[in-house]
Order: sequence, then C-alpha cells, then structure tokens
Amino acid sequence: MADDDHAPDEATRSRPLVTYVLPVYDEGEGIETFHAALVEATAARPDLDLEFCYVDDGSSDDSLERLLKLRGDDDRVTVLSFSRNFGHQIAVTAGMDAAGAADAVIVMDTDLQDPPQVSLQMLEMWEAGADVVFAQRRSRQDSRFKRATAWGFYWLLDRMADTEIPRNVGDFRLMDRKVVAAVSQYREQDRFLRGIVAHVGFRQEALLFDRDPRFAGETGYPLAKMIRFAASGIVGFSTAPLRWISRLGFAISAFSLLLAVYVLGVRLFRPEESVPGWAFLGVGMFLLSGLQLIMMGVIGTYLGRVYVEAKDRPLYALALTARGSRG
Ligand code: UDP
Ligand code: MG
Repeated sequence: MADDDHAPDEATRSRPLVTYVLPVYDEGEGIETFHAALVEATAARPDLDLEFCYVDDGSSDDSLERLLKLRGDDDRVTVLSFSRNFGHQIAVTAGMDAAGAADAVIVMDTDLQDPPQVSLQMLEMWEAGADVVFAQRRSRQDSRFKRATAWGFYWLLDRMADTEIPRNVGDFRLMDRKVVAAVSQYREQDRFLRGIVAHVGFRQEALLFDRDPRFAGETGYPLAKMIRFAASGIVGFSTAPLRWISRLGFAISAFSLLLAVYVLGVRLFRPEESVPGWAFLGVGMFLLSGLQLIMMGVIGTYLGRVYVEAKDRPLYALALTARGSRG
C-alpha cells in the first residue's frame, strides 16, 4: 500500500493512472453514446493516463460485441466479460480487482445517469487530498415510487446499520488506490459496496450532483432485485433484527404478567364473571410464546456473532504507518 500521498510511483510512471470501472448490463442501445460522452469529458484532463474498464455482466443483448468494437478503436478500453449475470455489485468488484495498477478508480453507471462531467470534479477533490469522493444525489429524475422506496430504505438503514452509511449515495464514486486495496480485502458474497466503503474509513468527501434520467434501455434493477439489494444492505451491516426477537419476547412476557394481574382482579372482585380454566390458558399462552421468543433471541444473538465472524472482514484498515528507525 502506498504510504506517500497521491503521487504515483515516480520510477515506473510519471503520470497518474485513473481507471474508470464501468459495469454494463444490457446497455447495447446507449453504450457508444456513453463512451463518446466519457471520452469527450475526460479530454479535459490530458495530463492523466486513463483506462476505461468495462465489465459486461452477462448481457443478453449485443453489449459485448459493441464493447469489443470500442476496444478496437480505443486502446484505453479494457473489457471483462462475465460468464453469466452476477449482478452489479460483483461486476464493480471485478473491475476494481482488475484495476490493481490504478492510482485512483472511478466507478460509474453506463446509462449516463452519472454525468461524466462530475467525475472531473471528483478528480479535483482527489488531487486536493480526498481518499474517497462519493457523489450524493441532490435531485433525481426517477419515478415517485422509486424515490419513495429509496427514502424508506435509507431511513431504515440509518436506524439499523452499525456503520454510518451516507444517504442518497449510489456507487458513483472515486476511490484512491489505498481505499481500493482496503475494499478488495472484503470478500463477502453478499456485497453492499457503499456500506463496505463506509466501513473502511479514510478521508471521505461528498460531492453533490443532479442525477440525470436513464439515456436508453431499461433499469437492470426491477423491484424484486431492489428489495433483495436493500435487504443485503441492512442484513450485511446489522444484526439488529436478531436482537429484536428477544425484545419482542420480553414485551409479550410482560403482557402475560399484566394479563395475570387482570385475571386475578376479576377472580377477586367479580367472581361471577370469571370463566374456569380461562386464566390458565390465556396467561399461559402469552407467557410461553414470550419465553420461546426470548430463547430464540438468545440463539439469534449467538447466530449474529457467528455471522459476523463468518464474514471474516479485515479488522482494520491502516491509513499510515510511521515506523521508528528500528522498525
Ligand atoms: N448493471 C449490472 N448488472 C446488473 C444490473 C445493472 O452491471 O445486473 C449495471 C447497469 O448496466 C448500469 C448500472 O449497473 O451501468 C446501474 O444499473 P441501472 O441503471 O439498471 O440501475 P438504476 O440506475 O436503475 O438503479
Ligand atoms: Mg441507472
């Protein structure tokens, strides 16, 4: 890991290398327009070496052929192609794995929802010392339904996740090489990259932008996929749902106690209204289910620990080591 600041390795390369990681799933219709827009925007930075790393996530249209054609016309293009659709987060991970030589990596969508122009501002913030620059949506042109569900998701995530994950942030971000190295150590299957990036720390800065509507094609995130993704965000960064089982158990047990007091009251003060056997059944039912939930919560607590250990995340990410002369 580089312990100097953002300067590239002088001996091997004089210009910084910036790799764009670009996941593609059925974007055939708009991919050339996207690439042209990206090339045009980045032409403003002739001082940088650029690599455009497209990851074809098992597209079923002609995206791959078109990407290979782009590769033929522009030697800065790299194309990776998955054997099937593994999902956006895995595609981004593969691109980051392939970008080992880059001084910075920029991840962006290939449907022109993330304006290439914004990535230039990210580069400036990186040069000014930021390790992560994440694009935060000031506005978005999505449907009302998508906006409402996104809001609900971030609300829930805020309340449950142990790591603070910024709101309205997608995967459009720049990462310095040391952040890429740190994130690459997280090998969990169910990946929620924006959570992992929040988890590694370093100097992170937000950049506000207006999200454009999709240029062509359809969203690769239909509702079912979005719900699964939201669930992996919450479950991947929190074991709170498991702890809630015992809380519910305690609440139900407490209710059975109140019920017992009530039953006793009826028995003592209005014996003519009390039904034989009712107290035993009613109180017993709540008490037993409450106890069962508490015990499930105990199991859940252990399970949560097993889960955290099984994820086998790195314990820390070092930002700097300054050894003494004997180190
Ligand atoms: N994508 C992908 N694999 C998938 C779904 C999407 O690589 O299974 C890519 C897609 O090509 C795009 C980015 O991920 O570049 C974001 O997807 P999309 O625009 O469909 O999501 P939305 O913007 O609607 O949330
Ligand atoms: Mg999109």
